[in-house]
Amino acid sequence: MKLKKGGFMRNLKLLLPIAMAFTLVGCNKQSEKIVIPDIEESGTVVILATGGTIAGSGEEGKETGYKPGSISVESLIASVPGIEEVAPLQAIQVCNINSDDITSEIWITLAKTINELAPNPDVAGFVITHGTDTMEETAYFLNLAVSTKKPVVITGSMRPSTSLSADGPMNLYQSVVVAASEEAIGKGVLGVFSDSIYSARSMQKVSSFDVTAISAGPMGALGFVRNNEVFFYEASTKRHTETSEFTIAPTDTMTSLPDVPIIYFNADADPSIIDWAINHEAKGLVIAGAGAGEFSEKFINSLNGITNIPIVISSRIDSGVITQDSVLVKHAVAANDLPPHKASILLRMAIAKTKDLTQEKLIEIYKTY
Ligand code: ASP
Repeated sequence: MKLKKGGFMRNLKLLLPIAMAFTLVGCNKQSEKIVIPDIEESGTVVILATGGTIAGSGEEGKETGYKPGSISVESLIASVPGIEEVAPLQAIQVCNINSDDITSEIWITLAKTINELAPNPDVAGFVITHGTDTMEETAYFLNLAVSTKKPVVITGSMRPSTSLSADGPMNLYQSVVVAASEEAIGKGVLGVFSDSIYSARSMQKVSSFDVTAISAGPMGALGFVRNNEVFFYEASTKRHTETSEFTIAPTDTMTSLPDVPIIYFNADADPSIIDWAINHEAKGLVIAGAGAGEFSEKFINSLNGITNIPIVISSRIDSGVITQDSVLVKHAVAANDLPPHKASILLRMAIAKTKDLTQEKLIEIYKTY
């Protein structure tokens, strides 16, 4: 990979504040529409900061009790020695929040901003800094909504910036290395965390504190980063980014996604929670069933009565595939191997973007993405 020489201030053009078309939690609320920066330096990596522990701050040396989304993208970048040698950087503070407060409005803002900037020949790739709690959801949404071969990388950290041995600087450095690399072109949205590269579809948070908390379960990593070198060994076989049918163009009028609640089944669960969701105008339902997407007779009876909105069956187990012939409600759709939170994103996108919501079409969508 070619390294670019240049000073920190020359390479980092901060774009604060970025204007938004709507009000976001903890985000800039002053302006009325998204301002897309002028990028004129070849090989620029655009950093879109959203908050999380990587931007968290607390008592010096402590790993807990901190506030996520406290430090600016400027301070975040300034804390990474040598990052300015990897690529010219443009930074955009999209918001600065705990990722548990991420909304579909913010997802859409990210997708539109990336889709607007991606055709610029001077842009090499994108890095999104994000809290780890919902990082895999933002990654999977963008995998469906952005339309570019250029690398889009998401990263975060498990320790706040003020902790002893914070992991954020290394994760950010490695993400810029991947976003600037030719090897990452066409691989879809990627997660970079603790030396490993993951696909957006497979990445998942597997620990509440470990610095290797982002993993990909049985699918494993696609590759690794060592210093300034990127090593890929695998690639996702599913449709994503450039070939996705769910692109959200910069001019798209969509500002949020339809509501699709996830209903978690447990032994002795009261099925009236299903009626509650329907009465609150759910546009679709995802059931987090037990085992291979199973649930009680009471749940089956309730779900059999719902024929006006799509129902997708996933599992509360984080490994394995649900096949269509094992779905207990005859008009419902198997989520394949998607966990409930990703199955919900795909259904929200399908409802928002597809006219055809027949069971046949949805079965195809869940096999394809
Ligand atoms: N609660 C934090 C967040 O998701 C956790 C983290 O970033 O690791 O924003």
